[in-house]
Amino acid sequence: RFITIEGIDGAGKSSHVDAIAQRWTARGLVVVRTREPGGTALAETLRGLVLEQAMDPLTEALLVFAARRDHTEQVIRPALARGAVVLCDRYTDATFAYQGGGRGFDLAVLAQLEQWVQQGLQPDLTLWFDLPSELAAQRRGAARAPDRFEREQLAFFDAVRAGYARRAAADPQRVRRLDASGTPEQVAQGWQAVLASLGW
Ligand code: C5P
Repeated sequence: RFITIEGIDGAGKSSHVDAIAQRWTARGLVVVRTREPGGTALAETLRGLVLEQAMDPLTEALLVFAARRDHTEQVIRPALARGAVVLCDRYTDATFAYQGGGRGFDLAVLAQLEQWVQQGLQPDLTLWFDLPSELAAQRRGAARAPDRFEREQLAFFDAVRAGYARRAAADPQRVRRLDASGTPEQVAQGWQAVLASLGW
């Protein structure tokens, strides 16, 4: 079983990953927790480059997919083969959302890279922690009245969010939208309900 967690920065997803992992560990399952970009030494190095260096969009997309290739081959596929549950903080939906939606990179090229790199390895379930960009910005500690730079950021995260919405619309069985605007307890009830409905 392969589960991914998605959402814009400030959605609060990381605070729920622990609880989701615990739910399964408590039931005796082996849970492999990992993240993207990253999850292997090489992929973490690539993550550092992507997050710190300005680069053109194709270079960025290729590095994200190179990191993903190493991660799927070294960690995700072997873990699934052992029967573990793989719980990954971000995966390809983030590429479609950030590089595609946010940076406007060609979605058809991303779809081709997805094919090449993953050879069909898709999550069984994706929990998308969704909330308005303004609220996410507040949670990231931004000022209440955004200045010009922060408004540009809001537009960027609106585009990232729209990228997630497209992925959810294209694959609603896999991508489950959670309302992440509520309290941590309310948000937890949301993912608990989804997992319970699947018997997970
Ligand atoms: O979720 P996490 O904090 O690990 O994300 C780190 C950053 O990586 C995010 O702020 C996001 O801007 C960036 N990112 C990206 N493209 C991806 C995945 C993440 O730009 N495909």
